[in-house]
Amino acid sequence: MKTYDYIAIGGGSGGVATARRAAEYGARALVVEANRLGGTCVNVGCVPKKVMWYAAGIAQAMRDAAGYGFSVGDTRFDWNTLKSRRDAYIARLNGIYANMLEKAGVDVVRGFARFVDARTIEVNGERFSAPHIVIATGGRPLVPDIPGAELGIDSDGFFALEQQPRRVAVVGGGYIAVELAGVFNALGSEVNMLVRGPHLLRPFDALLREELMAQMQEDGVRLNFATEVRSVARGADGTLRVACSSGKALEVDALVWATGRRANTDALDLAAAGLTADAHGVIATDAFQNTVVPGIYAIGDITGRAELTPVAIAAGRRLAARLFLNQADSKLDYDTIPTVIFSHPPIGTVGLTEDEARARLTAVKVYTTRFTGMYHALTEHRPKTAMKLVCAGAEERIVGAHVIGEGADEMLQGFAVAVKMGARKADFDDTIAIHPTSAEEFVTMR
Ligand SMILES: Cc1cc2nc3c(=O)[nH]c(=O)nc-3n(C[C@H](O)[C@H](O)[C@H](O)COP(=O)(O)OP(=O)(O)OC[C@H]3O[C@@H](n4cnc5c(N)ncnc54)[C@H](O)[C@@H]3O)c2cc1C
Repeated sequence: MKTYDYIAIGGGSGGVATARRAAEYGARALVVEANRLGGTCVNVGCVPKKVMWYAAGIAQAMRDAAGYGFSVGDTRFDWNTLKSRRDAYIARLNGIYANMLEKAGVDVVRGFARFVDARTIEVNGERFSAPHIVIATGGRPLVPDIPGAELGIDSDGFFALEQQPRRVAVVGGGYIAVELAGVFNALGSEVNMLVRGPHLLRPFDALLREELMAQMQEDGVRLNFATEVRSVARGADGTLRVACSSGKALEVDALVWATGRRANTDALDLAAAGLTADAHGVIATDAFQNTVVPGIYAIGDITGRAELTPVAIAAGRRLAARLFLNQADSKLDYDTIPTVIFSHPPIGTVGLTEDEARARLTAVKVYTTRFTGMYHALTEHRPKTAMKLVCAGAEERIVGAHVIGEGADEMLQGFAVAVKMGARKADFDDTIAIHPTSAEEFVTMR
């Protein structure tokens, strides 16, 4: 049996980050990865998704070009070329991750880990033990149990598509559904979104939801609410026939399930370590990422909190500092986490929605604005930019900042710093605008 100071089960965002930091602090660390290094984010998440979003942006820029005097001739887009180039980029990243770990002195074992006891895991029949083991096994897409569900693909399958489907159904109304639908639509597929609830992006501020719905519809995405898929069947010509609860029937070339994710804890044999997971596979942790078993920690998506790459990384790094740098108070503050949705147009959001603020705080005051960004002054297609600042208390502390529109993705990070620091509306008002930008509206709202 090989022994280490620290074992990370899972070589994704959280596992790699925590093991590297631990090694930097002098620990002998091991990462166990069943699949490709980099996990969901690098292989079937943030990274390939953003590549597709850039491609969609180029398609949109060509559409807008006429407004600026360009005559764009016949253009052709080859999905397969893009996919090959994207795959090559990701293979490079996989290599970079392997090198980073090697340089940091972290050992890597390839294979599927399961617990033998609270200090020991087994991978491919070999045993490894450590006084500190962190579970960072992430999640996987969840597909509903209905007839023909297997004829659809999930987000992993989206990234495996070799050719662009002409007609697509995207099932779900969360951020992944919105992002994939937006990419397909911008690249020329005919898109139907099938959404169980009454709107997209349920937990987000109403301003963002409503603006996005309006803009997606204007862009040609068909939004079908109160619609559940009952069955999927394949016709002789390969067409998928989708039957919905609303009575709606669709014929499509591909159906994408974007109906949620499940934590990867089922095959870990948690019981052998004295651990349990809830019905969604989530492992409960305290504020310091401790599970109920001393010496076993959990970070990232399997903890069911703010399922984002930088969150998994930050939790992992702080845990490593606590365990191997004697920083007893080192932990991640899960409040006020900014996030971006790479929709068309993109969304940036940090802090409380207006509804949350009104339910929890007093003296809530809201500032909103809606305008056409300057880039679109000359284009035929004129999506709006909309912003909201949610303030609370007599001093008008900013507790939420929300934006949808061109540039929102790059705009929000700096404002998130200000909100995290406790900025007041007066601080925003005191800040000189950068002109001409859309972001300047955040400091000029009245
Ligand atoms: C389509 C999509 C788009 C996304 N876009 C964004 C985005 O734009 N921004 C953002 O911040 N987040 C995004 N996310 C979320 C982000 O990918 C995750 O929050 C992040 O990857 C979580 O990191 P993690 O370390 O918890 O798990 P993961 O990155 O999933 O890594 C877990 C690793 O553990 C391995 N593993 C599982 N079980 C075992 C086992 N028993 N033994 C060994 N290895 C095991 C897996 O193979 C995997 O490599 C996206 C996710 C998806 C699906």
